[in-house]
Parts: sequence; C-alpha cells; structure tokens
Amino acid sequence: MKTFLIYFAVISIALITVYLFVFDINNYESLPFFQKINAENILDRFENVLSSTPADEKAIIDYNILLGELSFIERNFALRIFSIAPSELGFKGPFYSIDKPGKLVKLQSIKLNPGRETGVQYLPEHVYNDYLKLAEQMKKDLGRKLFVDSGYRSPGRQAYLFFYYLVKSNNFSLRENAKWIAMPGYSEHGHPVNTAIDFTSENGINGFSGGQTAADFVKLDEYGWMLENASGFNFYLSYPEGNKYGVAFEPWHWHWEKK
Ligand SMILES: [Zn+2]
Repeated sequence: MKTFLIYFAVISIALITVYLFVFDINNYESLPFFQKINAENILDRFENVLSSTPADEKAIIDYNILLGELSFIERNFALRIFSIAPSELGFKGPFYSIDKPGKLVKLQSIKLNPGRETGVQYLPEHVYNDYLKLAEQMKKDLGRKLFVDSGYRSPGRQAYLFFYYLVKSNNFSLRENAKWIAMPGYSEHGHPVNTAIDFTSENGINGFSGGQTAADFVKLDEYGWMLENASGFNFYLSYPEGNKYGVAFEPWHWHWEKK
C-alpha cells in the first residue's frame, strides 16, 4: 500500500510538471519554455507556406491551409491560444467570423500624391460593387473620391501576424501581443460580409500614416460627404468618438452592412 502511494505521488507530480511545462498557457505575461519553442516552430511553418505564396496573395492566405501545416501538438497549441477570450488579454472587440468571404475582387495598387501607394487590396464582391457606386457619386459631388487604403485581410494573415509579433516583438507575452494584433476573427477587416475599409484621400490623407492624426482625416470634405451619404451605399462608421468598444476614434474605418 505504501509503495502504491509513493508511485501515485511520483506520477502525480510528474503529470503536473508536464502539464505546467508543456500544456499550460495560463501565464499570459510570458509563455513557458516549451511553448516558446512551439511558438517559434509555428512561425517557421507559417513562413514556409508564405514563402511559396505569390506576393499579392499573402494578405489573403487561407486560415485552414496555414493551420493544416502544423503538427498535432502545434495545431492544438495554436488553437488553444486563439480560443482565449481576448477580453482576458485586455482586448474589448467582439468576435466576428473566420468564415471565408464569397468572391474576392483584387484592386490594383493606387499611387497617391505624396509618393505613397495603397498596395494591392482585396474586397468581397458585394462590398466592392457598393464602393464603386459610392466613389462615383462622391466624384460627381466633390470632384474627388476616396481610395481603398486597406481592405479585406484573411484570418490566416492575422494568425501569421499574431505569431510573428508574439515571437519577434512581444517576447512571448500574449497580453502584450494582444494590444497590437487582433486574433483571427476579431478584426472587421477579416469579416466575410460586413468587411471594413480604411479609406485614404488621393493626397494620401488617411488619418494614421506618417504622423497624421484622426483630425487630419476629419478635415477632409470627403469625410463630411461620407457622414451625409455613406449609409445610402451601405457603409457605416465603425468607431465613432466615444464608441462602446473602447476603440479609438477611427474616421477612416467604415464597414459594409445591409441594414
Ligand atoms: Zn481599419
């Protein structure tokens, strides 16, 4: 009996140790040693897939293809991280979706006036069609229009970015990482239906790049036009001042929604 109890105690301690070092991710400030290795391996595997993906398609890399490249242990680890409620990590936004959009339309890069470019962007077809109508009417009314600075990004892309910044910038702290990168499914830019667009003026005013502030975008006549007319084309400002998500005012960020 005594021998049995000793065996039992030894095995229990071993199991608890294995759990803490191999499976436990409850320390949001810094992952345990083995999980750091897991995270590095996951990033390597994601980068392998991306290195064979055409440059224009890296922003829309498929979530399931990316996750499918991982070993059993790595995939379970990644999925457990992505199943943590981001509110536990200090992120307040709602979960949207990791479903795939219908047909995506590819928008060629636009050269903006101060030498900046939008890069190739993607939008679901229904969002693109309404954007075209909106831009055409704005051009008629103002003689100018807004361009798509950032459109659809896949949950796969976010999964990659999440591990990239976790390993490279945020020293394996899930909490720190969540301040900078939304988890897959938590960005409106990855929403397959109510997709968000970040707009820019043709002079490169988008309210956030190169030292700009939201006030720079608010001053645009195009912004005033959007407040009056965008809903007629199914676009809505996602993060007005004092929004309930606790997200900073983003006058450039509008999502598509059929109300
Ligand atoms: Zn945005």
